[in-house]
Amino acid sequence: MANVPYKIYLTEEEMPKYWINMKAFMKEKPEPFLNPATFQPCTAEELEQVFCKELVKQEQNTTDKYIEIPKGIRDFYKMYRPSPLVRAYCLERQLDTPAEIYYKFEGTNTSGSHKLNSAAAQVYYAKEQGLTHLTTETGAGQWGTALSMACAYYNIDLTVFMVKVSSQQKPYRKAVIETYGGKVVASPSDTTEIGRKILSEHPDTGGSLGCAISEALETAVQTDNCRYVLGSVLDHVLLHQTIIGQETRIACEKHGIKPDIIIGCTGGGSNFGGLIAPFISEKIAGKSDVRIIGVEPASCPSLTRGKYAYDFGDTGKTSPLMKMYTLGSGFIPSPSHAGGLRFHGMSPIISKLYNDGYIEARAVEQTSVFDAATVFARSEGILPAPESAHALLAAMEEAIKCRETGEKKTIIFGLSGTGYFDMAAYVSYNSGTMVDYIPTDEDLEKGFAGLPKVPNRE
Ligand SMILES: *Cc1c(COP(=O)(O)O)cnc(C)c1O
Repeated sequence: MANVPYKIYLTEEEMPKYWINMKAFMKEKPEPFLNPATFQPCTAEELEQVFCKELVKQEQNTTDKYIEIPKGIRDFYKMYRPSPLVRAYCLERQLDTPAEIYYKFEGTNTSGSHKLNSAAAQVYYAKEQGLTHLTTETGAGQWGTALSMACAYYNIDLTVFMVKVSSQQKPYRKAVIETYGGKVVASPSDTTEIGRKILSEHPDTGGSLGCAISEALETAVQTDNCRYVLGSVLDHVLLHQTIIGQETRIACEKHGIKPDIIIGCTGGGSNFGGLIAPFISEKIAGKSDVRIIGVEPASCPSLTRGKYAYDFGDTGKTSPLMKMYTLGSGFIPSPSHAGGLRFHGMSPIISKLYNDGYIEARAVEQTSVFDAATVFARSEGILPAPESAHALLAAMEEAIKCRETGEKKTIIFGLSGTGYFDMAAYVSYNSGTMVDYIPTDEDLEKGFAGLPKVPNRE
């Protein structure tokens, strides 16, 4: 067979018209969300007070295997998709490995990550519903940026609660969001009740995603014609991200590429879930034995050291309860540089797949992540986001194993974004001051102690 091109693009005609609803393929479904007051499964009506109607419908859909991408969203996607599937020839040479390495690169849009895929969809549905305002949180800033781009396109007002450490580390992120018309509030803030409470208990906190979520939720329910949108974790976000996996699958079929290993980084699980969707569906059906690996930071190890339990999605304990791998909603991870991976929980779908043995998980330390990021930048030319470099590191580890065993495996990893706004992290790495934080078992026990007691569900 002819050499695979360096970059594989799809034509406009080849672009996927359907997202994949992974739950419809799963033999056992994830547990339902529970109302924390009654411990009964959340109804659509309850969820619609917080979330857009169509997104609630998608969240609760466990039967339709494919969901059509509306034309209004496909038109938005055309501005920056397809994203390339790149054969990492230069990295392969650098590592002297017989493995074939590919990466699906989601960093080609201005927001710099995959998050625009779900932002576009969520804002489109908000607009269809006649909403005028959305609130959200942002950790590293990518989600807020993506959402501000989508809100500008569909003409919706946006308030972004940005984790305080990120807003300090990344002032330019804030500037980009504001350029697209979004309003940025550093979290915890004094604009919400929960923000004021957290500030009074932890005046020096740099904030966390969980805490910013609480503030955004509170503001959404108190603002007219407003809903809250979330950039990860939820099933409908993973659904929208399956555009990544769909494009990857089509590109693979076009060039006869058969992955042995698929790797993604896992914060809330959305880019990973989106990438693996078509492949895990085949694996569940027993038609493939592809290995699938989620990579997380050792500083926030929800899959590898968390508990599979019902927990809140936010620090303020106001969200529905979700059954997921979690470190406890009170766990505030140390300030690692991969802001997008600092979430205490994990997507309920990914959690269930992991619990049922379909996927593996690996935790890695940030200095090794930046070692890998630097090798990649110098060989492939792209400066990766720290989050994405977690997947990259695991892909390199697998490729190096192939060098040792002589196996010619095909590895695909998700390069979820670029790191141009993460230069404080690169400065810290380059100057040798970066340190690795690994929570002790006692640290984790404190988080687990705060898990809600859910009757008859464990
Ligand atoms: C937000 C983000 C992540 C983590 O989020 P997931 O929902 O786990 O995908 C990973 N990479 C980048 C570049 C991000 O911006």
